[in-house]
Amino acid sequence: MDWLLTPGPVRLHPKALQALARPQLHHRTEPARELFLKARTLLQEAFRTQGEVLILTGSGTLAMEALVLNLFAPGERVLVPVYGKFSERFAEIAESAGLEVDRLELPYGKVPTPERVARPGYAGLLLVHSETSTGALADLPALAQAFREANPEGLVGADMVTSLLVREVALEAWGVDAAASGSQKGLMCPPGLGFVALSPRALERLRPRGYYLDLTRELKAQREGESAWTPAINLVGAVAAVLEEVLPRLEAHLALKAWQNDLLYQVGEELGLLAVPEARSPAVAAFHLPEGVPYRAVKEAFARRHAVIAGGQGPLKGKIFRLSLMGHYDRYEALGVAALFKEAFAD
Ligand code: PLP
Repeated sequence: MDWLLTPGPVRLHPKALQALARPQLHHRTEPARELFLKARTLLQEAFRTQGEVLILTGSGTLAMEALVLNLFAPGERVLVPVYGKFSERFAEIAESAGLEVDRLELPYGKVPTPERVARPGYAGLLLVHSETSTGALADLPALAQAFREANPEGLVGADMVTSLLVREVALEAWGVDAAASGSQKGLMCPPGLGFVALSPRALERLRPRGYYLDLTRELKAQREGESAWTPAINLVGAVAAVLEEVLPRLEAHLALKAWQNDLLYQVGEELGLLAVPEARSPAVAAFHLPEGVPYRAVKEAFARRHAVIAGGQGPLKGKIFRLSLMGHYDRYEALGVAALFKEAFAD
């Protein structure tokens, strides 16, 4: 078995594997409807919202696009801090939806401060909670609050793709109106599902847009346990099975993920590697490559030990490498990975 140390897709949860071994359900039958509704309720708990969660067939990017399309109209002004590849993507999605986008450019590895987003005149703020490309974690509650004080009518949309089930998240309690995530990260399921969580305030502001991505149509169908289209019902089963297992012990799970990521940073520090982010997300540990060492050499040293790692993206390509234990790893396996990390650098 290869050690999947990439920040998505990740090593699968055994409950996901078991669920995927079940016979095919037809999506317009009662057992499928019950499963769909169960998954929606569990996701609502995971996002901590009194609103609703829509399950879409697609990846996290699709969920980001659906959020932007259905909550904002062309010509509306949104503020998008850019501090990594995925916040850059949020800006590009908003531009492609015809919004007027003010980018707040920051060096990759940094996160915006609340003062920078406390600017009036915006219909929305789009933020990435855990910026997987740099390993940085934005202070979402403080940023949402600062923005909403300046824009009481404005909506806060967040990318929670690598924070859901990895780090505490909450919609209404944090002043976040909508969030996007996916199945192949903290949920420890295969890729193929995107989620859009909508607070009660966001639900009131939903407008029909697009066709496949029209969330008003999806909402109507999903309230009945169906999707307007053929859903990836097998994956919905996997998501429900994992959430049922993890949510009752969420605090311990989040503590484990934090401990495991800290362990990776500790090893990196022992090896003299420089960490990329200032504020660290527990989803991924990102390190600068040592002077004169190409990414290929590090990747191969891990590959010789049957481990798959990730490199840099955008301007960080060829400059950093990233390791993640976001998948299903217990404490002992994480210690094994830490030993493997040291060995790889002894080559
Ligand atoms: N946002 C973040 C923070 C991510 O880490 C990723 C994937 O790595 C995405 C968005 C895009 O998700 P997907 O590749 O599922 O479309």
